[in-house]
Amino acid sequence: MGHDGDFARGVAYGTPRLEHCLNVRARDLGIDPAQPAGFADWLGLQSPAREGFQQRAHYGYYLCAMLAEAEATAAARSVALQVIRAAVEAVDRTASGFVCRVAGRDSIAATRVVMAMGALPPQPLSALSPALVASPNYIAAPFADGALDQVARDAEVLVIGTGLTFADVAISLRRNGHRGRIEAISRHGLPPLPHTVEPAAPLPVSTELLDALQEGDVRRVLHALRSASRQADDWRRVIDALRPHTQSFWQRMDGSARRRFLRHLRTYWEIHRHRIAPVLNDELDAMRSSGQLVIRASRLIGADVDDGRARLALRDRGLSDLRTLSVDRVVRAIGLDSDVERTAHPLVARLRDAGVVRSDALGLGMDIDEDFVVLDRNGERVTGLYVLGPLLRGRWWEITAVPELRRAAAELADRLVRQE
Ligand SMILES: Cc1cc2nc3c(=O)[nH]c(=O)nc-3n(C[C@H](O)[C@H](O)[C@H](O)COP(=O)(O)OP(=O)(O)OC[C@H]3O[C@@H](n4cnc5c(N)ncnc54)[C@H](O)[C@@H]3O)c2cc1C
Repeated sequence: MGHDGDFARGVAYGTPRLEHCLNVRARDLGIDPAQPAGFADWLGLQSPAREGFQQRAHYGYYLCAMLAEAEATAAARSVALQVIRAAVEAVDRTASGFVCRVAGRDSIAATRVVMAMGALPPQPLSALSPALVASPNYIAAPFADGALDQVARDAEVLVIGTGLTFADVAISLRRNGHRGRIEAISRHGLPPLPHTVEPAAPLPVSTELLDALQEGDVRRVLHALRSASRQADDWRRVIDALRPHTQSFWQRMDGSARRRFLRHLRTYWEIHRHRIAPVLNDELDAMRSSGQLVIRASRLIGADVDDGRARLALRDRGLSDLRTLSVDRVVRAIGLDSDVERTAHPLVARLRDAGVVRSDALGLGMDIDEDFVVLDRNGERVTGLYVLGPLLRGRWWEITAVPELRRAAAELADRLVRQE
């Protein structure tokens, strides 16, 4: 159930901007795990476009079409599918299941509830003064309609974040004809790496790497990855070979290994694993070569607004002195959040405060068991209440991109049907 934008498209695929590209090849994005080419077939793509990176808006149309098809064929399969555009404000437990309280509508009783709410809204950044946050100098939601179109072409811009959202922001500004200087900062200052134009098949996983994966040994995995990448013609073929093993590797790691991974390797994992389309990388390179775009490893210490400009205090990595920067616009590009303990998402906060849901041990999302069933504050199963989507990172780690999501969705659907 969605309450903003079009059904099925969500934040990711609701963007109308043509430069917002998928970061997975078209031929791998079908919604059915048994037919990965479904999206490329639906678009009628031939090679090389099937191996290319289509616009996210096209994927949104595809998802809408798949939902429309499911609605049209539901009755023939004895399924009653009703789509309601409204916000669920509460999910209360009753003797026989749940009652979902829905804004502006009658409540809905259900024996089973699947929460597929996407990630949580981004947390406020504590380094920013309330005056800056409230000012037109600050753009908290760069994907919101027209948000970047208001930025003057010669404005100086600071982007907080250097990941996939940053790439979208920088390229949208460029396509808007932006001429002003753009600085982007993050702890490591590492932007996403590019895909290659031509896909290359994943290499077989070496015995050494497989053993290390099976033991959940982060240090050995890293060692084996480095040596495999040195021998490979392209490191991407080594990283891509890990995909079928990542979730089970994560499961085998104990809590302290997962913490070590998150502390030391997370950024490196993200930039190697979640890559951007080559054409977008070329544009970022052009912006960097011309000096228009600068990416720095830097932390935001404080930020205020003064005389119509944002004034920032930054600490560049390895330096103790603060650097000051004055820009016209500050754009938040830190991506979505998953901190169940701190979130202000109304439904999740309510469920958390009532003890019905809890954060997983690493604060990556919600705690569930192996059947997608929510675990409450005491670690007890909340029978009939399920979660699906990016909030399951604590359990699966890789669960944000379509290939993993579609498999999880099919597995959960299968479980729900079998339990009937
Ligand atoms: C900008 C962006 C780009 C991405 N690009 C790619 C890509 O190229 N390739 C790829 O494989 N993956 C990509 N992803 C990742 C992935 O595909 C998405 O995270 C995926 O869309 C998640 O789907 P979802 O249905 O779980 O959540 P969402 O699409 O976020 O949908 C959640 C829905 O739940 C609704 N909701 C939330 N709370 C309530 C409530 N209380 N009541 C009613 N409705 C509620 C929301 O309104 C929303 O409609 C991208 C993600 C983002 C954010």
